[in-house]
Amino acid sequence: MGDRVKVACVGGGPANLYFSILMKRVDPSHDITIYERNPAGSTYGWGVTYWDELFNDLHRADADSARAISESSVRWDSWVTDIRDRATVTVEQGEAGYGISRRRLLGILAERAESLGVRIEWEHEIDGEHDFGDADLVVAGDGVNSVLREHHAEHFGPEFVTGQNIYIWLGTTKIFDAFVFAFVETEHGWIWCYGYKYSQEHSTCVIECTPETWRGLGLDQGKEADSLAILEKLFADILDGHPLIGRAQADGTAHWLHFRTLTNRTWHHGNIVLVGDAAHTTHYSIGAGTALALADASVLAKALFEEKDLDKALTAYEHESKSKLRSPQRAARNSARWFENLPRYIDRSPMQVITLLGQRHSVMQPYVPPGLYYQFDRIAGRVGGLFGFGR
Ligand SMILES: Cc1cc2nc3c(=O)[nH]c(=O)nc-3n(C[C@H](O)[C@H](O)[C@H](O)COP(=O)(O)OP(=O)(O)OC[C@H]3O[C@@H](n4cnc5c(N)ncnc54)[C@H](O)[C@@H]3O)c2cc1C
Repeated sequence: MGDRVKVACVGGGPANLYFSILMKRVDPSHDITIYERNPAGSTYGWGVTYWDELFNDLHRADADSARAISESSVRWDSWVTDIRDRATVTVEQGEAGYGISRRRLLGILAERAESLGVRIEWEHEIDGEHDFGDADLVVAGDGVNSVLREHHAEHFGPEFVTGQNIYIWLGTTKIFDAFVFAFVETEHGWIWCYGYKYSQEHSTCVIECTPETWRGLGLDQGKEADSLAILEKLFADILDGHPLIGRAQADGTAHWLHFRTLTNRTWHHGNIVLVGDAAHTTHYSIGAGTALALADASVLAKALFEEKDLDKALTAYEHESKSKLRSPQRAARNSARWFENLPRYIDRSPMQVITLLGQRHSVMQPYVPPGLYYQFDRIAGRVGGLFGFGR
């Protein structure tokens, strides 16, 4: 692209904040404005997880923000799986995991962006017909419900696949030392949760079940406080008396959702380009959406730096990002499906459940009887990757 580029970024989530930082680092003369509908410091969600690989990428791309993110993150080195009344198993894992408060992450990125000269217009909601004047580039980083994408839906070709299960994203004051999976059997079916710390004061809990279990337990009734009371009882073993914390909707009901996996036929149209959740979503059970949003930001900034022609740069960005996305998208689909088919796995021995859970991303698992898969995995573990099973 030309030397000085005027960019309008819609949405002040991780994707756009990071994109603006990388653009300014390359050329401080770029004129970048971010329009965010929420006030500064307010966001949805609790904490997000990420892994060593992202850490290394962030350090390479912008050491200042990477350092601040690192200082505000907490780390765990093991996984605990708790299957009610049957077993609690702790597994030391090779790769460390990290958690950071989503609010803190956005605060760090917004501060860094502003320090580099990015303008952030908080509480400025954009509608689909907004006129961005003489902007060279409009970056739609306005999340899964992107208004810009929907306004040009005919061109972008968005497609949603709605997950069968229902989930809720909660916080708690219980600090989980390890990454915890807890499965609880009720008379209405299984309900499970995974939790991880994201600060010294709070952890995230994502709770999921089938719609039948949800209705059977009465989670579809009453206010959020009623849902939380039921869930606190069900997960009392892992919560140790700590409360679950929600964020009720305007009418006081709990924020239960079906996850929607989004894909788009194309990611750019004229001078508009989609990034992060506006372009694609991956099921939360692989904890990768934020990392992928940051990766989009980095690939887009690189493409704009390397290619002077806008259309060619956006095509190169789309091509590279889509190819990076293929493997996590497949893993996310398999992982979501694993939980949707939980009865297929959960009645096996605890060690088998833990192994199958750890490999829920596997392409093979849905097609191989679970007992046989487990046996193959054990052999593969001994001889090192036989048949493509195991790690
Ligand atoms: C339950 C759950 C758990 C998750 N856990 C993890 C995890 O552990 N690790 C991980 O990496 N990812 C996780 N994710 C995914 C992650 O939250 C998203 O992938 C990530 O936030 C995407 O970033 P983004 O910048 O594309 O969009 P968003 O974070 O959604 O940001 C979009 C921004 O745009 C603003 N906006 C929207 N519309 C407008 C408008 N019209 N005008 C102005 N502003 C607008 C919004 O207010 C928002 O600030 C999880 C998601 C869910 C649902």
